[in-house]
Amino acid sequence: MRTIIGLEVHAQLLTKTKIFCSCSAEYFGASPNAHTCPVCLGMPGSLPVLNEKAVEYALKAALALNCEIPKRSKFDRKNYFYPDLPKGYQISQYDEPAAVNGYLEIELPDGTTKRVRIRRVHLEEDAGKSIHMPDGCSLIDLNRAGVPLIEIVSEPDLSSPEEARIFMEELRRILRYLGVCSGDLEEGSLRCDANISVNPDGKKGTKTEIKNMNSFRAVEDALKFEVIRQTQILNSESTVEQATLTWNSDQNKTEVMRSKEEAQDYRYFPDPDLVPLEIDEAWKKKILDAMPELPAAKRARWKKEFGLPDYDVKILTDELPIAAYFERTVKEFPKPKEVSNWMLSELLRLLKESLSKEIKIPSENFAKVLQMIESGQINRNTGKEVIEEAFKTGKSPEAIVSEKGLAQISDEGKIIGAIVQVISENPKALADFKAGKEAVVGFLQGQVMKKTQGKADPKKTRALLIEHLKKS
Ligand SMILES: [Zn+2]
Repeated sequence: MRTIIGLEVHAQLLTKTKIFCSCSAEYFGASPNAHTCPVCLGMPGSLPVLNEKAVEYALKAALALNCEIPKRSKFDRKNYFYPDLPKGYQISQYDEPAAVNGYLEIELPDGTTKRVRIRRVHLEEDAGKSIHMPDGCSLIDLNRAGVPLIEIVSEPDLSSPEEARIFMEELRRILRYLGVCSGDLEEGSLRCDANISVNPDGKKGTKTEIKNMNSFRAVEDALKFEVIRQTQILNSESTVEQATLTWNSDQNKTEVMRSKEEAQDYRYFPDPDLVPLEIDEAWKKKILDAMPELPAAKRARWKKEFGLPDYDVKILTDELPIAAYFERTVKEFPKPKEVSNWMLSELLRLLKESLSKEIKIPSENFAKVLQMIESGQINRNTGKEVIEEAFKTGKSPEAIVSEKGLAQISDEGKIIGAIVQVISENPKALADFKAGKEAVVGFLQGQVMKKTQGKADPKKTRALLIEHLKKS
């Protein structure tokens, strides 16, 4: 049995306005139908005007996906009746899409790279939203109608649910790096439909389409479920019915939405209100020249340039602002692994806890804390405290250390004072040490650190402690 999966991904573009009118494209949280006009309401006589930014974003995404950009593409009307589609048709691109023949390379868990071909990328408009009320009536919100989308269609090159999930994650990363889509699967700014067939050896299987997978986990779980379901049907000598399925994540199963007895006829025809789109080479070149370093290239460079392990690279390059923060810090404090350790252990934890998207300690201040630890001005535990305080208050590390009196005690006299006290308070530990139980050193060192509010230089403390234990 061989599994074949192809994906169709819809990505909402982060333009300020809709694709064919000047209404705001930010529908999230807005009052229903506040962002509408005769064009996106589909009033007779209104005419669409193409948003240049939407085309630019589509080209950006297509070029990042290594697509060819045909000189000419055009818009078509895809006719179907649905209450949240006020015109009775959706403006999309049919036989002349904006981009074709691309590919996306994904990194598989075994360390190999797989090239997944992209069949096409085209522009279209989003539909509105139907809200079904408990009393049986339905409400329509057309704020989303006319928000620009790109549809990215892969070839059926994916051979497992896991590969499909990895593809989606990498695609989302690219779109976010480009700043063209927020990539939120739960909120629906990035949506994934999958075609999947399980093929018995030497024979062709029947594909089903799965919709409504609104998390990376759902993509993998839904496809896994479908592989098992189709395999069981085939093993029982029955045939898989061609159908459109929806993923029910509460019950962890696919359900039939509609069976596709006959192919839908959308009666596509060229939209007479929109002229064909012609992309000149200069525009394409301008976009290519401004293309940021993409996630895969960044990962490869970081491994080489910074010698970081795969795990660190994967996490720190996932989001562009985090990656940029790391690079800025390393410029000030050129010890990449140390920077990575502190970011992974402290900074990302604080970021998560603060529920903020922004690291509230400037990278130069973060680098400063690492320098203070390196030079012995503060110890590592104090370092954590300073980072936390700087994150919460925005104060400079120097100010925090001096205000709170956190500077490390390197003065031997002060450390010895604490050691003498601790030894006299713990006669049993001293006896144990004399009897050869070296493990008590750790305990006693802890007591000294406690007495100095954690500010004693740990290395010095340990050496002085052992010296005094031997003398005592
Ligand atoms: Zn409008």
